[in-house]
Amino acid sequence: MGSRSLQDIGPLTWPGVPLGAPLIVAGPCSAESEQQTLEAARQLSEIGIKVFRAGIWKPRTMPGGFEGVGDRGLPWLLRAGRETGMSLATEVATVEHVHAALDAGISILWVGARTSANPFAMQDIADALRGHDEVTVLVKNPVNPDLDLWLGALQRILGAGIHRLGAVHRGFSSAGEHLYRNDPQWHIPFELRRHAPGMTILCDPSHIGGKREYVEPLAQQALDMGFDGLMIESHCHPDQALSDSAQQVTPQQLKSILERLVVRSGTLLDDELALLRQQIDDCDHELLAVLARRMSVARQIGRFKKAHNMRVVQPTRYHDMIKARIDEGSSLDLPVEFTQRVMQAIHEESVRQQIDLFS
Ligand code: PEP
Ligand code: MN
Repeated sequence: MGSRSLQDIGPLTWPGVPLGAPLIVAGPCSAESEQQTLEAARQLSEIGIKVFRAGIWKPRTMPGGFEGVGDRGLPWLLRAGRETGMSLATEVATVEHVHAALDAGISILWVGARTSANPFAMQDIADALRGHDEVTVLVKNPVNPDLDLWLGALQRILGAGIHRLGAVHRGFSSAGEHLYRNDPQWHIPFELRRHAPGMTILCDPSHIGGKREYVEPLAQQALDMGFDGLMIESHCHPDQALSDSAQQVTPQQLKSILERLVVRSGTLLDDELALLRQQIDDCDHELLAVLARRMSVARQIGRFKKAHNMRVVQPTRYHDMIKARIDEGSSLDLPVEFTQRVMQAIHEESVRQQIDLFS
């Protein structure tokens, strides 16, 4: 059992979802009360959702945030499952969570991004799952962009004899300001696909985007790239949600999103060219974020110069900066002329923004 490889993992099937159709998991970030859980479950079931998610143990980055209702949320989930016929999914982060969820009969467990980054926690969870090969386990990518850590987490679960195994791409934490809450770094799930060609890989556009308006475009991108389905956070009153309020959509909004999504038959996820293009896109995202940061520092310098009655352009500083960048560029195999042109353009814009502050 333990010697099975990720290469052998087959796709997950969802009861009631035709083969090849995207697998959709939807539900609130957290179960907050019995009424909120049931209301979401009923509305999501009405729009055709077959797998209902809700977190009851919530790992929050900061203490004092809403950390979930704990075990008392399990009967709410079970009631939602009984009333709607949907399969149930919840997050587990400790051995106690695994036991409680298994004892309650929850059929799908997911491991969150903060937990999959910790091999000790993953091994404990895997050991607690041993012997429960009826359960489905979804492993979210670790918070840090490390493919091996993700693979290791999946292998530990597989090693415990769990073969109903899938992955969820939810993006990666990164420093600085970015368009999305979590950087997609699409090449990492692409690489995962190469290691586990038959395994179900879902995309979680809610946690990648962090804002509800990004859910649909990210979901479409994910389907276009050959993800097998989506995990989407949905709450009947998103603005009142106790966790991840900005990224949740109502069941009605989710219905419209799902109706508009185009499912194309071709898959790009293992296409070499798509993989390379995605890496270019990732590089450009990084470039733009760095440029924006540089301009913000330039404006800070501009305010300092204004306060100290200094000129905007200091010729020696300009000369030294361009020369240093050309030397650094050369050591990275960038042609002198190219580095010069790029740095001049960047400098010119910094100067323009500083001059604006003077006027
Ligand atoms: C979640 O799905 O609610 C969650 C906490 O996700 P992640 O582990 O991706 O942050
Ligand atoms: Mn969430």
